[in-house]
Amino acid sequence: MFFYEVAILSSPLSTLSYHFDSTLEIGTAVNVIIRNRESKAIILSECNKPDFKTNEIIGVSDFIYSKKQIELAKFISTYYVCSLGEALGVMTSYSSVNIDTEDTQEHEVSQINLSQKQEDALEFLTQHPVSLLFGDTGSGKTEIYMKYFQEMIASGKRSIFLMPEISLTPQMSQRLEEHFGDLVVMWHSKLTPLQKRKALEKIYNGSAKIVAGPRSTLFLPINDLGLIVVDEEHDDSYKSSSRPRYNARDIAIYMGKLYNVPVVLGSATPSLNSFTKFPYFRLKGGHFSSKKEFIYEKSVETLSPLILNNLKNTLEAKDQAIVFVPTRANFKYLICQDCGHTTQCVFCSIGMSIHQKSRALKCHYCNYTQAIPQVCSECRSPSLVSSRLGTAEAVKVISEEFVDARVEQFDRDAITTASKLKKALTRFNTHETDILVGTQMLSKGHDYHGVTLAVVLGMDNMLNMSDYRAREKALSSLIQVSGRSGRAKNAKVLIQSFNEEFFSTYMNNYEEFLEEEKIYRQDLYPPYKKLCRILFSHKNGAKAQEQMRKMQELLSHISNIEVVGFGKCAVERIANKYRFEILLRSDKSTDLIKAISRCKVDLAEVDMDPIEFA
Ligand SMILES: [Zn+2]
Ligand SMILES: [Zn+2]
Repeated sequence: MFFYEVAILSSPLSTLSYHFDSTLEIGTAVNVIIRNRESKAIILSECNKPDFKTNEIIGVSDFIYSKKQIELAKFISTYYVCSLGEALGVMTSYSSVNIDTEDTQEHEVSQINLSQKQEDALEFLTQHPVSLLFGDTGSGKTEIYMKYFQEMIASGKRSIFLMPEISLTPQMSQRLEEHFGDLVVMWHSKLTPLQKRKALEKIYNGSAKIVAGPRSTLFLPINDLGLIVVDEEHDDSYKSSSRPRYNARDIAIYMGKLYNVPVVLGSATPSLNSFTKFPYFRLKGGHFSSKKEFIYEKSVETLSPLILNNLKNTLEAKDQAIVFVPTRANFKYLICQDCGHTTQCVFCSIGMSIHQKSRALKCHYCNYTQAIPQVCSECRSPSLVSSRLGTAEAVKVISEEFVDARVEQFDRDAITTASKLKKALTRFNTHETDILVGTQMLSKGHDYHGVTLAVVLGMDNMLNMSDYRAREKALSSLIQVSGRSGRAKNAKVLIQSFNEEFFSTYMNNYEEFLEEEKIYRQDLYPPYKKLCRILFSHKNGAKAQEQMRKMQELLSHISNIEVVGFGKCAVERIANKYRFEILLRSDKSTDLIKAISRCKVDLAEVDMDPIEFA
């Protein structure tokens, strides 16, 4: 009889002991009975006969998790505070069954010609274990990645290419497929079961040399790994919003060490986190010769006469426009109509949002609450407003104003599938649509050929968001959006903001912005401090609150961590569950992890390195 310690796949339970009458390899996926139900489990180690009675393993599969996958799962389980079974649950196992290598058609891969500057960049990337390719939109980052992939293929190695939300970037997939043909496999959640099986076959048999996709791509069973590229490394979609709440960019960096392979992070607007941690190569300038004119309008989020007038001119000239509505209108911020000032939390230096129920301003970090002021604390003006406009509402207003114009909504509410996205983009690029109104989705790497006007609504709402990364997010969004216009013709970018000085200073100088941002973040925020958010949600609000109080009391006695705030979440209820939170801060993540493991109570859901504060 042999005894094994197993992790129950995708279960929050800790490891358990089972027995079997023959030896099993570490990592093997097996079936066990737990609470009268059959579950998948993974063999972690052989162990001595326990003092208690064990159950038998009832089935052994052909699937196996590699030692490195198990090591990675252990890291995820420790750092993101989840069970080993949950961490293994995000991974795809290897298959011990030999899959016939189908004769893949010889694909003639054409030569990629890089400019001298691009060659220098590639040289730089190959010399560092982790490096940042800090390249403007249109500076040719993709060609550099492709050349690097090609070098990997030549040396018999395979590459992982992470992209945020692959279904949103059909143009990138198309480029890769055109160049690499069958050598590239696209992995994403919208694959049909048949497509998924075919993709996995190519991954198992080794014919897929480049595996491209969103964060789950990292956990595919890829042998001979030679390179990991994380494109748009600043993108928030790399952070998982359910357990394990990992950040794929950070996991990629960890995997670089684990597999001893180089990691390349790429972005036109890198996160301060990566900018401070890794050596970077700056690739400047786009290929577009057209000119752009920036106009700032000191107003809050409304379709002002100036905007409508510019849209009218664009339509009359038979050109196209995009209208960017920064974020979904979840929260409102009080902005002074005369000077653009927004109230900030005295403790956290971030914008405070309006809390309708209690008619107060609230800080999403420390829960500090204050009465809604009657006059601007900066200029004493009584004209304090909080207007927000949703995409649907903007479409309605524009359509009513210009009855002949073809206006389309372009956000998650309207574009729910990859095919809807493709169709909407085609309609726009063939000029069946005149105006595209959308959120961040507008800026995700699409090429719009005929845009001569980009309107950016209510930028100050984004700049003053209750989020320590508000400036980083606002500026990078603006850079990405304005990069979408004027690709062929000269264009205008109309920005609604009182903060012209901030945006115009840093629009073409993101490096300088990052240097400035370091000073602001220094004592309070990442990358200099570690944050951890603990959520408590339950149908019974009193129960959630009680658990939050209990843990907060325990945490308050630990000296090397700080309880920044605790109380009701800014979004008090989701799916009929009441939500409470604790926000922690510390110099080291290890101190946070230790404190949490000592104080953890029921219902506590840990979010390490959080990016959501609502
Ligand atoms: Zn004011
Ligand atoms: Zn605060």
